[in-house]
Amino acid sequence: MSAAALAGALPEPATRVARDRAVTPRIVRGAELRGSRTVTVDACVVGSGAGGGPVAAGLAEAGLTVAVLEEGDLHGPETLTARPRDMTTGLYRDGGQLVTVGTPPIVLPLGRGIGGTTLVNSGTCFRTPAPVLARWRSEHGLEALTDDAAGALFRRVEEAIGVAQVTPELAGENAAVVRRGAQALGVSGRHLFRNARGCVGSGVCAFGCPSGAKQHAGAVFAPRAWAAGATTYTGCRAERLEVERGAVRGVQARTAAGGRLTVRARHVVVAAGALLTPLLLRANGVGTASGALGRHLTIHPASAARALLDEPIDPWRGVPQSYFVDELADDGILLEGIAGPPDQAAMATPGQGPEHRDRMLDVARTASFGVMVADTGEGRVLRLPTRPARPLVRYDLHPTDAERFRRGFELLARIFFAAGAREVLIPLSGVGVLRDGDVSPLQRARVRPRDVKAMAFHPLGTARAGADPRRSVCDPDLGVHGVRGLHVADGSVVPSSPQVNPQLTIMALATRLADHLAAEG
Ligand SMILES: Cc1cc2nc3c(=O)[nH]c(=O)nc-3n(C[C@H](O)[C@H](O)[C@H](O)COP(=O)(O)OP(=O)(O)OC[C@H]3O[C@@H](n4cnc5c(N)ncnc54)[C@H](O)[C@@H]3O)c2cc1C
Ligand code: SF4
Repeated sequence: MSAAALAGALPEPATRVARDRAVTPRIVRGAELRGSRTVTVDACVVGSGAGGGPVAAGLAEAGLTVAVLEEGDLHGPETLTARPRDMTTGLYRDGGQLVTVGTPPIVLPLGRGIGGTTLVNSGTCFRTPAPVLARWRSEHGLEALTDDAAGALFRRVEEAIGVAQVTPELAGENAAVVRRGAQALGVSGRHLFRNARGCVGSGVCAFGCPSGAKQHAGAVFAPRAWAAGATTYTGCRAERLEVERGAVRGVQARTAAGGRLTVRARHVVVAAGALLTPLLLRANGVGTASGALGRHLTIHPASAARALLDEPIDPWRGVPQSYFVDELADDGILLEGIAGPPDQAAMATPGQGPEHRDRMLDVARTASFGVMVADTGEGRVLRLPTRPARPLVRYDLHPTDAERFRRGFELLARIFFAAGAREVLIPLSGVGVLRDGDVSPLQRARVRPRDVKAMAFHPLGTARAGADPRRSVCDPDLGVHGVRGLHVADGSVVPSSPQVNPQLTIMALATRLADHLAAEG
């Protein structure tokens, strides 16, 4: 690999097949819980995604009694239709329409349900790169997270979720185009590693995997937790943390039926995700002392270019995110595949009326690929004055990152042209369509933040971990400074952008927390 920034970031393929988990879900549906109910357990976990899943499984398997509160529902493969329009409202929070306030506005979708955002994610797996871990040790005091300790955690997670490299056959033509172009130019790139078992390349990962191949948190960790006796309360939104004399005592939740569920527990782990966790902590007056709560948000902004080719691409066939280019990773720029079914392409295709129609008529010959940049700047999560509480995300793209998009797109355009593209559509105002292999409009462009059309998928850092309580919300073992028994295990605790897709990072940190709490008993 050419890029030092990604040192040690590629997973090791799982050496054994994940075990079959035909476990009966232990679920109590909040939609059927009226009135008041109180349960008493050792540990209450709020959220069941990349962070909450491993913690709940680890604690239950260590013999603790565990209750998981999840605002969303269970979505098994039998309920997943593969139709984006049906699935978006059910699997995404607010229909996936959360948009940042700032320049430019950035769509920032979140999943909701057992599995959290892993239910709708692309399955790409990277370890936290070694240089990032080194920074977390030196700048944030996460000294126990040595390369060896992190490596051992990653191996356990990778075994659990069946990480393997995508094969060329499953990668699809969309990836083959970029691979061909990258190889022609001598640019560094590889097939991605993913958590899937028996993937058939149906191309709808972002709308729930209908074949049950994706080994998301709800498919792997929830069944493990249930098998060890944990109960998941779906349709239950945690609203109050009960804290007495500096120690957490439990959680109160509102059920979908309007009831009240109280969970008494000596360990409470908040894993509601980087946009919701700060709201819950702030509403309860905890984690606020340093001023870091809700701040230091990184989102890993992303954008995608499209290329028209002469031959059929059929971008809906194959794994949508199956190949990456790390040539510019040292500068925080990663290129990763993005593709999907025609309805998704219709939403992502620019233009209106006849222009949009003509582009859609060409969609079978259109390849698309993403550019992601590691944030130079930071954003902030505030609370909208709604009931229930909703996040307001303030984020301005840093001018350095706008320039990084320009560089990423220049490399991507070269790759597309080297693969035989007729034209390349760049989503930067003032650039537009490139033809005849000419990337000079991109070279000349002075790209400002407002010129970038971006989305983002990786919110992190809003309750960051660190040894210094004046700069962090949680300690290096993820305990909220100043409150005994209260921990955070989700994207919020990640101290700075890992520069790669974060699910393995979050799962590894959550696994470490489970070990730590299990040792306490
Ligand atoms: C479309 C898409 C594609 C992505 N692709 C990838 C990828 O390929 N690889 C990768 O590494 N990452 C990917 N990600 C990001 C990754 O999935 C997330 O970073 C990760 O899931 C975040 O984990 P988390 O535990 O912080 O939160 P989540 O996984 O979002 O889990 C939080 C859970 O908490 C629940 N919750 C929130 N508030 C409450 C409350 N008050 N009470 C009860 N429950 C609550 C939510 O409903 C949710 O289920 C993608 C994201 C998206 C949107
Ligand atoms: S591409 Fe594979 S992991 Fe994605 S939805 Fe299809 S079968 Fe599932």
